[in-house]
Amino acid sequence: MKYVIIGTGVAGIAAIEAIRSVDTAGEITVVGDDPHGFYSRPGLAYYLTGEVPDKQLFPQMAEEFRKLRFHYIKGHVTRILPAASRVDLQDGSSVTYGRLLLAIGASATPLTVPGAQLPGVVKLDHLDDARQILKFARRGKTAVVVGGGITALELTEAFVARGVKVHYLLRGDRYWSNVLDAQESRIIENRLREEGVQLHFHAEVIEVQGQNSVKSVRLLDGRVLRCDMVAYAIGIQPRLGLAREAGLAVDRGVLVNQFLESSVPGIYAAGDVAQVYDPVAGRSVLDSLWGPARDQGYTAGLNMAGRIKAYHKSVPFNVTRLAGLTTTIIGAVGHGRDDDLVGIARGDSETWRELPHAMIAQSGEVNRLRLLIGERTLVGAIVMGDQKLSMPLEKMIGNGADVSSIRDQLLAPGALIAEIVSTYWLEWSRQHA
Ligand SMILES: Cc1cc2nc3c(=O)[nH]c(=O)nc-3n(C[C@H](O)[C@H](O)[C@H](O)COP(=O)(O)OP(=O)(O)OC[C@H]3O[C@@H](n4cnc5c(N)ncnc54)[C@H](O)[C@@H]3O)c2cc1C
Repeated sequence: MKYVIIGTGVAGIAAIEAIRSVDTAGEITVVGDDPHGFYSRPGLAYYLTGEVPDKQLFPQMAEEFRKLRFHYIKGHVTRILPAASRVDLQDGSSVTYGRLLLAIGASATPLTVPGAQLPGVVKLDHLDDARQILKFARRGKTAVVVGGGITALELTEAFVARGVKVHYLLRGDRYWSNVLDAQESRIIENRLREEGVQLHFHAEVIEVQGQNSVKSVRLLDGRVLRCDMVAYAIGIQPRLGLAREAGLAVDRGVLVNQFLESSVPGIYAAGDVAQVYDPVAGRSVLDSLWGPARDQGYTAGLNMAGRIKAYHKSVPFNVTRLAGLTTTIIGAVGHGRDDDLVGIARGDSETWRELPHAMIAQSGEVNRLRLLIGERTLVGAIVMGDQKLSMPLEKMIGNGADVSSIRDQLLAPGALIAEIVSTYWLEWSRQHA
């Protein structure tokens, strides 16, 4: 069998591992256009703040790659021809396939206002973007950051860490309103202010001004903010061009069934580019997270190699740092729309937006725990600050632990929910050890 994988992100690499675990003889070719190959995209935030050197972004050793025995082509695929089972590359060459995987990810939604092409207007997709941001940050004094999700905050933190003054622009009236509740947004906003970040709500950039470099931005309300850089993170878009042109069914991502196979037999998709059927939700969803991309890539690889296996979407889980505060987001926690983001953002899952059943929270000075409670189970949680309960909650939510025995206690006014959950967890984990 001849396997071709497009994309050297985590989905592509996991697919190679899966194929090799089943088929030791098949020929695997991987085509990727990122000059740095495979590295940790979530790690870029820590590289930008200076906490992680760039070599730590590369988790895989050359020796491990050699063991997987694949042929690597550094190049850009321009066309897929399903009728000829062939992909064409930008340099004029072609590769034929027996099974093909699209693992080409998503790209940052572009800023389309006049002046957005000026040097100094940056986004964060690749390691090269991060290097460019650092280059500008060394020269610049003031940055404008646009966007409401995790990546915009990571950009803000990066500039703060590099001594750059930040104007942080939000289109709505609070930070990340489709995932955080009002109090959680305020916690993050206050921490940003303490770091010296200037927040602007209901602020929308309509022009980036400057001749050969950024000088200022003009806002919809007429204000002009002087700056040397503009960084934006206003959502992401699965890269759909290749699939569309090849006649694959697409919606917001490449539509795939539970086996990660697209509407064209023999062509699979996984990771940020894929919109995967979720039998529990009864619809196809986007999950733009590292863990699901790895799991989908692995499952796609198994299916490509003939080991038929359905993909089971796990409860979306993300540990991130928001304005220096470790925050874990598990399951369904949110509210739906967010004015600042176009659809979905980096490190985001559509499942988070599902409507919660009952919601309760307990806040300390810097720590906060919020639980979303279904009829019998916990369906989601946000853990900010103290992380003692994040692993137990992930396990209980992921395994559908029956919490009916503590439901009334949890929902009682003024309940100390952290304590109730801790006590329940001790008993539950003992029974399920
Ligand atoms: C700054 C940042 C922070 C993030 N933070 C988190 C986080 O905290 N938690 C979390 O869970 N997730 C986070 N994510 C998201 C996570 O990194 C992605 O969900 C994951 O990397 C998706 O993997 P993938 O393999 O599907 O796609 P990608 O990693 O995007 O890989 C796709 C590859 O395909 C290549 N490619 C595209 N088109 C072509 C073509 N035509 N020809 C050849 N090659 C092509 C691309 O260059 C790229 O190398 C973050 C992402 C970024 C960028």
